[in-house]
Amino acid sequence: MHKDVKEILYTQEEITQKCKELGKTIMNDYHDKDLVMVGLLKGSVPFLAELSKFVNLDVTFDYMDVSSYEGVESRTITIKKDLDQDVNGKHILLVEDILDTGKTLSTVRAMLIERGAASVEIVTMLDKKEGREFPIEAKYSGYEIPNAFVVGFGLDFNEKYRNLPYVGILKEECYQ
Ligand code: 5GP
Repeated sequence: MHKDVKEILYTQEEITQKCKELGKTIMNDYHDKDLVMVGLLKGSVPFLAELSKFVNLDVTFDYMDVSSYEGVESRTITIKKDLDQDVNGKHILLVEDILDTGKTLSTVRAMLIERGAASVEIVTMLDKKEGREFPIEAKYSGYEIPNAFVVGFGLDFNEKYRNLPYVGILKEECYQ
């Protein structure tokens, strides 16, 4: 375990198993639709890669970068990289590492609906329900977690720890 991690919450094996379950449900729901999986950079990349292995449909991928977390505090949303494609009439599944206040996803979801997407749903690896400030829920959710600062499997602190093959709680002394 990394020296800055206090506790491992979910191992690689557990996350893979969860992705299998989520993938099966997503396949059922989208088997007759053209699905675009939209990863929110950068944190969703490992989860999107793992999850999509179990979505055995002709999906396409796109990416957006609207992340605003540069430390422990949340900031205002800005689009750093927009989608490459026109989403008009398409079924979009937003893929996120963690849903916290809901600000990021509610902003992005509203934007894609405004652009004419046929549907916009959310799959998140982790859900911090206690942190919610905006009225938004994920249709597909891996794990509900308490209000602690977690890293790994795509989640960073100051761009570090994204490569950890597990999700763990960061030691407080690393960000205090
Ligand atoms: P929201 O807009 O829902 O408040 O925040 C979503 C974003 O905040 C996530 O994509 C992630 O970048 C960041 N975030 C929220 N909680 C955590 C956390 O516990 N750890 C890390 N590393 N990022 C978090």
